[in-house]
Amino acid sequence: MYIILSVFSGLPHLHLCLIFKTAHNNYFNEANWIPMKLTPEEWCHQFISAEIPLLPPPSRSTWYKKQKEYRKNVLDFMIHSCSEACVVDGKCSKRFPKPFSLTDQVSDEAYPIYRRRAPAKSEEERRQNPELYGETEDKISRGLNRVIDNRHVVAHNPFLINKYKSQLVN
Ligand SMILES: [Zn+2]
Repeated sequence: MYIILSVFSGLPHLHLCLIFKTAHNNYFNEANWIPMKLTPEEWCHQFISAEIPLLPPPSRSTWYKKQKEYRKNVLDFMIHSCSEACVVDGKCSKRFPKPFSLTDQVSDEAYPIYRRRAPAKSEEERRQNPELYGETEDKISRGLNRVIDNRHVVAHNPFLINKYKSQLVN
């Protein structure tokens, strides 16, 4: 089911509910071909990201080209920048910037907290444990030069953002 609305920009705006069907939340370990039960966090992580994609060292590989394009799509379409449309009583009604979180956290009683890793304090710190830290990007927004980190990333499905190259919100 979907609904198409007209928004402030005059462009059509689609609300579409997608439900991903999996076989009882199981997946197969490729090495052993044994069904494994996913935790809610692992299941969520398969479909949703709320981080600036990592850009690997430049190369001619297809992986590098795809990852570069994915990063550009996230920075172009999925960075929340507050404006009169979202600020109520001096606060963002969409609750940006979101808190940093080292992992996805899923609960029955609250909205999920997506993995949004904080940037490293130094390049040395990042080199020692790269899996612990998120990316940053300098971006000019509303005439101001801002350093964007994962707190500003709108949760998205990487496949859909790369396919449709527009703002897609989970
Ligand atoms: Zn806002």
